[in-house]
Amino acid sequence: MSDVIHLLPDNVANQIAAGEVIQRPASVIKELVENSIDAGATSVKIIIKDAGRTLIQVIDNGKGMSETDARLCFDRHATSKISSAEDLFSLRTMGFRGEALPSISSISQLELRTKRAEDEVGTLVVINGGKIEKQESVACADGTSFSVKNIFYNVPARRKFLKSNTTEFSHIEKEFFRIALVNPNVEFELYHNDQIIYQMRQSSLKERIVAIYGKSINSQLLLIDVDSTLIKIGGYVGKPETAKKQNEHQYFFVNGRYMRHPYFHKAIMQAYERLIQPGTSPDYFIYFDIDPACIDVNIHPTKTEIKFESEQPIWSILMAGVKESLGKFNVVPSLDFEHGSDIFSDNGFFNSTNKTPVTSLNMEVDTSYNPFKTEGCGGAGYHYSKKTTPNVENWQALYDGFESEKTSKTDFPSYIPQESFDPANFVCPPAENEKLVMEGEENKSHYIQMRGKYIFTVMKSGLVCIDQHRAHVKILYEHYLKNLQQQKAASQQLMFPIMINVLESEAMLLDELMEDLSYLGFEVSNLGKGAFSINGIPSDCKESNAELYLRDLLNSFKEGGDLKENRKEQMALKLAETSAIKAGKMMSEEEMMNLVAQLFSLPSPDAIIDNRTVLTFFTQEEIEKKFK
Ligand code: ADP
Ligand code: MG
Repeated sequence: MSDVIHLLPDNVANQIAAGEVIQRPASVIKELVENSIDAGATSVKIIIKDAGRTLIQVIDNGKGMSETDARLCFDRHATSKISSAEDLFSLRTMGFRGEALPSISSISQLELRTKRAEDEVGTLVVINGGKIEKQESVACADGTSFSVKNIFYNVPARRKFLKSNTTEFSHIEKEFFRIALVNPNVEFELYHNDQIIYQMRQSSLKERIVAIYGKSINSQLLLIDVDSTLIKIGGYVGKPETAKKQNEHQYFFVNGRYMRHPYFHKAIMQAYERLIQPGTSPDYFIYFDIDPACIDVNIHPTKTEIKFESEQPIWSILMAGVKESLGKFNVVPSLDFEHGSDIFSDNGFFNSTNKTPVTSLNMEVDTSYNPFKTEGCGGAGYHYSKKTTPNVENWQALYDGFESEKTSKTDFPSYIPQESFDPANFVCPPAENEKLVMEGEENKSHYIQMRGKYIFTVMKSGLVCIDQHRAHVKILYEHYLKNLQQQKAASQQLMFPIMINVLESEAMLLDELMEDLSYLGFEVSNLGKGAFSINGIPSDCKESNAELYLRDLLNSFKEGGDLKENRKEQMALKLAETSAIKAGKMMSEEEMMNLVAQLFSLPSPDAIIDNRTVLTFFTQEEIEKKFK
């Protein structure tokens, strides 16, 4: 039998290798722009079409390549950046593997034009699918221009896996920011489909951050500056009140290279402990400067995971550095026990600078409540609604539709009597002696609120306990989803439109969501260049929640990649979660009654929402068992 082993042709080997380095158009941009930076460019222009699907062009004014280098750079392991393995430990450049260009050229139609300042003429190289088609002299500007067309044209299986233009553009934007944020001394321009999207002049680091994230971030950043023998740490961290749920403004760079580092992220979170709301995290732009011998960048093909020799001490230095900045800029408030609360209180920085009130923590206190009064089943931790001033703000929404829906056919769980809702049915008649104590029928409390979170009420067959927030989410969710599905919604016009600025990728997303948003009750118009005005909001959404909702929506759709099948459900659920009453909100009798009424007018009041239980039922037998 003859031998069976053979060497793969170069272009096939490169195509396979490309799988590691080049996943999508954004990877091409990353590799090309990093090469431009390594070539000493001070100006880089990126031109893309169809989110990089049809064209990615990167033009720089760097040092260019000689005729021979222009050809050699497409060979595997052809690099000017290292010549021995030891060089890896003194690396200050972005590239070093000599893998990017052979990979890119093997999966696209590529043209390179390059010229060194000292040469009379430049060189043109044309490569299709890894095969050199042409190499000749051309007249061109100093520097280098790579034009990459029809990525994956010869690997249909991979081209098929590219996502929508919105998603691919969002990846490009991410890679672009990672490079732009670490090279403020380089001027960048990014064009998409012949439109200029980002234009960044040479600037300071802070100006660069502002050029990306808008003017509002300028006053939200605190300087961090630590100089130790082991490491220098510089950059900015966000003020605690700007912490966000899904925060994309989080960057670590080491020696000019973006890196992911979950362990150092924890150091920052630790420094912000108790300063930010649970579930949120702060903005940060952290730049490490360290002897390259103390890190290993070679562990990951796209080089975003970097190993540090002394992680533990750096963790502590970082944590202390961030804490110091927070302290220096006086954002760590002194605890004020007089007011019984902390930084979340009205006097704290949370509400003073941020328009969004932290409602969940602003509990109303029932000063007239007397725990020793033997009335009903009161006791510590219980709250009798009739003692509080009803807060009717925004409650209209809850009553809306109740009249019309209360007679609709309902599908109650078997343990709930199958009858249309009547509040009187829900309540046990007071016991004879109770009647004597009570001043009058109208004072009778049918609903008990516990710790601003649960509502208890008695129904014919037992005691029901309802999670007030989830119940309201469920009611609003059904309402919003119906509007979305029937394509009609009530909107309240705003006297003063809310202006918001978003990134280009978010603007593309917002445009896609615009129609569905209008059925939810949002009237949003695109003013161009990432500016949008919110002119109308859903009838039962607070003005202060409108921007919060839109940003939250954008973040979650960005995270999840392409807009999912169930996007209507997601949009309705998010809006319901944003608009629903929160735990901690004290409710009046009337409010509780209406909440319960609305909940039980839904087709299946006891069904879970977003995988969470809304209500639970204690039957009389269950209660009786407890007393055996
Ligand atoms: P690496 O960056 O790891 O060296 P690449 O495949 O990205 O590998 O690039 C190979 C070589 O091509 C680089 O080492 C560099 O010498 C040359 N090169 C690539 N892009 C440019 C550019 N924009 N300007 C000048 N030289 C470049
Ligand atoms: Mg490179």
